[in-house]
Amino acid sequence: MAAPKVAVVGAGVVGLSTALCIAETCPSCSVTVLSDQFSPNTTSDVAAGMLIPHTYPGIPIHVQKQWFKETFTYLFAISNSAEASEAGIHLVSGWQVFKNTPKEELPFWSDVVLGFRSMSEAELQKFPQHQFGQAFTTLKCDCPPYLLWLEKRLKATGIQISTRKVADLWELHSEYNIVVNCAGIGAQQLVGDEKLFPVRGQVLKVHAPWVKNFIRDGDGLTYIYPGIHRVTLGGTREKENWSLSPDPGTTKDIFDRCCSLEPSLRGAQDIKVKVGLRPSRQSVRLEREVLSQGGVKLPVVHNYGHGAGGFSVHRGTAKEAARLVGECIAALQGSSSRARL
Ligand code: FAD
Repeated sequence: MAAPKVAVVGAGVVGLSTALCIAETCPSCSVTVLSDQFSPNTTSDVAAGMLIPHTYPGIPIHVQKQWFKETFTYLFAISNSAEASEAGIHLVSGWQVFKNTPKEELPFWSDVVLGFRSMSEAELQKFPQHQFGQAFTTLKCDCPPYLLWLEKRLKATGIQISTRKVADLWELHSEYNIVVNCAGIGAQQLVGDEKLFPVRGQVLKVHAPWVKNFIRDGDGLTYIYPGIHRVTLGGTREKENWSLSPDPGTTKDIFDRCCSLEPSLRGAQDIKVKVGLRPSRQSVRLEREVLSQGGVKLPVVHNYGHGAGGFSVHRGTAKEAARLVGECIAALQGSSSRARL
């Protein structure tokens, strides 16, 4: 069989990192990224990009932990390299605070992030409305820089990048041997997945360079995440809401909530409002499928539905998707050698 031709649909953090992993694990493959939108117009561009995992109810915890660990290890190496600034990857320390002590004091990812510990009484004095807290150091991906860095890596590896809206995965069968679906919330229409739904998130990106530590309320709704240039203030989680228009009332509410955690934010300037739709599901869809029409087959690998945690696990799920592409190639090679006999 000639060099397998692989199309990756989607150019968010999942599509770009999956294309890169496929090229790394299968250097003989010819990989093309097809997407209707690129940075800065994807959901991934809106995200804060913090490595604090979201829990997927439909996936065993040891698998989620493995995805997170692989992502953390990969980005930690970048953060310690000369690429860190261009890639927008940096370490950030801070606090997750709770109004009531959580049932699970030790989250499953506590030994993956750095220096995880309970907050001291002295630290908790900063948060008079909270009675328990966790301090740790994690990583943050600033977007768009991280997506642009991934795109640059893809081009340097010889991967083609092309603007195209795919109406149906089958339309790619005559041009590609394998298709990888990384369409985020677009997968609902692309493959008719009714288990996939949007969770709308509105955030503010502000100029407040004195804020150096992250602060996250344990309910996950209010957060302050400092990036290299701007601080992300959040947020909202609105299930089944498809609106991409910023809501001024929500903007004020987010700002007030964040100021009650960090009063100095009243002095923040240049407030920009962003909205994104988290591609949410009980579990990430990460599996093989074979489409077939009239005896013609098209192997597909799905990798979408990362919800509120796409940045936290993207490298781990990309590696698994690349492994599944390897299985598809082996199956294609097996059937083409059987056909020659
Ligand atoms: P996307 O970024 O949406 O990319 C999908 C791609 O597919 C796009 O390029 C799109 O154009 C393309 N596409 C779709 N349909 C088609 C089609 N038919 N044909 C061609 N192309 C198509 N996660 C974290 O881990 N940490 C955080 O701190 C964090 N903060 C967040 C804050 C907010 C406000 C939001 C909204 C999300 C946040 N997330 C966070 C979640 C994270 O953003 C998502 O999990 C992640 O971006 C999903 O990436 P994706 O590549 O699957 O989707």
